[in-house]
Amino acid sequence: MRVPIIAGNWKMHKTVAESVDFVKKIRDQLPPAEQLETALAGPTLSLVSMKEAAAGSPLKIAAENCYYKNEGAYTGETSPYALYQAGIHHVILGHSERRKYFHETDEIVNKKIKAALADHLCPIVCCDDTMGRRTAGKKVHWVVNQILYDAKGLSSDEIRHVTIAYEPSWAIGTGQSADPDEAEEGCYLIRQTVAYMYGNDVANDVRILYGGSVTTSNINALMSSQDIDGVLVGGASLDPETFLKLVNH
Ligand code: PGA
Repeated sequence: MRVPIIAGNWKMHKTVAESVDFVKKIRDQLPPAEQLETALAGPTLSLVSMKEAAAGSPLKIAAENCYYKNEGAYTGETSPYALYQAGIHHVILGHSERRKYFHETDEIVNKKIKAALADHLCPIVCCDDTMGRRTAGKKVHWVVNQILYDAKGLSSDEIRHVTIAYEPSWAIGTGQSADPDEAEEGCYLIRQTVAYMYGNDVANDVRILYGGSVTTSNINALMSSQDIDGVLVGGASLDPETFLKLVNH
């Protein structure tokens, strides 16, 4: 049984005080983690305070990025080891904004996934689909290739700790979500690729999320698809009441 996940991705929004205030507002209204996992990814500066504010609740705190080395002369980077030691549970890796604005390649994402796993973080790896809606053949190629590269060299045990998010960049922040069939198609493709690499049993254990303009209006239809185990939510996760509505969809 794959436990569904509702994860918020705040991106570069919220001060430390705003982050803590948000966590305090929702922390006592969340379902038990065995039923539905809830996670919030916040800016690095807020993470420790968010973790403290969430203590004793089912809410897991996620980083939005980390580096692929634990320590050293890498000015401005965040150590996966330090994140884990601070009680951070997940880390989003390979988001399309990181790939687009910070030139992250599949090779870098692959190194980051390995480093995060080695430090006991659970990566949420984003898989883009830049091809738009009408180029199905290319879409297959694009999605499959990213998974093949990003997961290269991971053991079956390791991939089971990875959550993959199908996040077509044309749907991110545009208000134009993939429709449930398109979202299911992307998530199905990802599961098939994991099955090709690791076999069906492993593929059936890996959680696959959809992300891109998820709202309180479309979450039900998206979550009822067979291969969609949860959602990664940007804009609609910024307001505590809306986030709770998504959780209680
Ligand atoms: P959005 O962002 O929900 O604002 O489209 C999703 C994401 O970037 O993870």
